[in-house]
Amino acid sequence: MKFETVFDDFGSLVFSEKVMKERLPYPVYEQWKQTMTKENSLDRNTADAIAHAMKGWALENGATHFTHWFQPLTGSTAEKHDSFIEPDENGEPLLRFSGKSLIKGEPDASSFPSGGLRATFEARGYTYWDCSSPAFIKDNILCIPTVFVSYHGESLDKKAPLLKSIEAIDTAATRIVNLLGEKDVKHVTPVVGLEQEYFLIDIELYKKRLDLRFTGRTLFGSNSAKTQELDDHYFGSIPSRVSDFMKEVNVELWKLGIYVKAEHNEAAPAQFELAPVFTNCNVAVDQNLLVMDILNKTARKYNFACLLHEKPFAGLNGSGKHNNWSLCTDSGQNLFSPGDKPAENIRFLVFMCAFIKAVDEYPELLRMAASNAGNDHRLGANEAPPAIISIYLGEYIEELLMNISSNNVKAKQKETDLNPILGLSYIPRDNTDRNRTSPMAFTGNKFEFRMLGSSISASTVNIVMNTMMAKTLDELSVKLEGIKYIQDVRDKSLELCKKIIIDHSRVIFSGDGYSNEWVMEAKKRGLPNIVSYIESIPSLIEAKSIQLFTDYKIYTEKELFARYEILNEDYNKTIEVEVRTLQQIVKREILPLLTKEMNELIPLFTSNHCPKYIVSRFNELESIMNDLEAKQEMLHASFDTVLSIQESHAQGIENYYKIAPLMKDIRNSIDAYEKISSKDIYNLPLYGDLLFGN
Ligand code: ADP
Ligand code: MG
Repeated sequence: MKFETVFDDFGSLVFSEKVMKERLPYPVYEQWKQTMTKENSLDRNTADAIAHAMKGWALENGATHFTHWFQPLTGSTAEKHDSFIEPDENGEPLLRFSGKSLIKGEPDASSFPSGGLRATFEARGYTYWDCSSPAFIKDNILCIPTVFVSYHGESLDKKAPLLKSIEAIDTAATRIVNLLGEKDVKHVTPVVGLEQEYFLIDIELYKKRLDLRFTGRTLFGSNSAKTQELDDHYFGSIPSRVSDFMKEVNVELWKLGIYVKAEHNEAAPAQFELAPVFTNCNVAVDQNLLVMDILNKTARKYNFACLLHEKPFAGLNGSGKHNNWSLCTDSGQNLFSPGDKPAENIRFLVFMCAFIKAVDEYPELLRMAASNAGNDHRLGANEAPPAIISIYLGEYIEELLMNISSNNVKAKQKETDLNPILGLSYIPRDNTDRNRTSPMAFTGNKFEFRMLGSSISASTVNIVMNTMMAKTLDELSVKLEGIKYIQDVRDKSLELCKKIIIDHSRVIFSGDGYSNEWVMEAKKRGLPNIVSYIESIPSLIEAKSIQLFTDYKIYTEKELFARYEILNEDYNKTIEVEVRTLQQIVKREILPLLTKEMNELIPLFTSNHCPKYIVSRFNELESIMNDLEAKQEMLHASFDTVLSIQESHAQGIENYYKIAPLMKDIRNSIDAYEKISSKDIYNLPLYGDLLFGN
């Protein structure tokens, strides 16, 4: 395939603004534009005209069905397909797609979690078109991005609150930018770039591992002789089956209008990363959900299974999803861009300081939003960000802020020490030296939040970032409003920044975030270190969170409690599936394998001349077998007790502190057996097979 032809197809499956401009009567297009800029709302005739054009475009591009594509609280996406075809009054086939079908849908909502928001007698849920995110075609289905709400209008999805948070930050950021003297700025949009890590495993081997199939991670298995220590995978050459897979992923994503750029091997063997170019926050979250979908589907075509779990392999790097976040004005300026003279760039200083304050005030929410049961195996581990939230600013910006707080405003010059060596007169440099151990790093003109787990929707993280930032900006605006002269506004802003730096510098940390010293130091500074996901869930219903989210009308109190319930239940369900899977593996696979292995030794073991090796081997296998049997009995009994706990959060805590360690114990026994098992008998794929099979 020639490159030009690939790029010719870019965006061909998206009903983009360009397509709308071409296909809609001009007044209709204008109406839609006004809806986008919130100057107007969409009327019935305009909706009908857009639906008609959309249907024509979709049919020409091979679509037969349409669906309202939404993001229920399970964290993935959902769709219910309807075909365009229906009989007219004479029974003749007619292709129909009305404005009403475009704008509103009624999926069977009863199977989606609602945390009690939907009583059974009003089980209906409605989907409404999110016209700020473009419709697209996937698998011959026209997908219309929508929000999902209950009969009474409570949000049942992850998108409606995200859109509200985008509006909140737009209003708050625009307000303060205007106050700082830039009156022509009308809108500020959060923009996000999401890097996605994943593993690729040969499908045949994957099928043989019940744990991978049911839970997405290995519940047993230990490091192979050759692993990550060699570090030969990172940025190494990409194997050909993988590179063919990546080529197809790229082509598919380009057709969906997603600018995928980077692709490279990650730290662990069989681990890879893909990163599209940043775009508007809600679109970026949608696109990431599509990226995960396309990765999964394309993997199957190349006989791979794509693992999006946070920690598929114990002892190896886990996978994350870096959330690169910044704010962009409608005039195209990045509000976190330091410019040439950051010390004099008051707008930059205000936004930096507001962000620092926000992170220091809501670390628990950030920690919660970035997590799930899977991320517990990755956070705090030696190869990933710890569960303590801190910000890394880079030496240059950190020094600048510290100077401001101590009234020493003379800023250091940016270094260009590489120039003489390379003989170049200009080297574009990052403003940071990229501390990889920081969970929240300032990387030049954006904040990179690295705690987010690879399988998690990026929606909640961005809801938290947008809303907390809106709040701190508004607090500053209140203090700047009414000041007459711009120089006085600047002076006052600097004073406010100075106070923020003094009050909140404890959240700034540039050292090694993986070290034990940092855990001690963070404790001294009073920074929270919530070790497990389950313990972070209550942050959602803390008084200060309820205040924040209800003030900005992102969630009602009822919605927050519903979400709290769903997250607890979801955690418990994940653990239950893991426990059931492990029990099945032990009973139906490992114990029978051990039996077989011991059985083979019986003739020799019971003979009069039994070699010493056989005696010790038999005894060793027997001891593992007894051990495993005892541990699984224990898990069985303990889990029954935990399941009987009614309150879901209390159940979750027991799952984390009692059940997870028992599972780990069982894993140790299985791994002890795996290490000494006979190659002819032990038929389950090992880490070495799984990771080096590509
Ligand atoms: P890394 O070194 O962290 O792997 P990459 O270049 O692979 O960095 O990815 C960085 C991501 O950040 C990309 O998705 C990129 O589009 C995005 N990004 C770049 N600039 C901004 C910005 N100003 N705001 C938000 N995201 C950005
Ligand atoms: Mg990154």
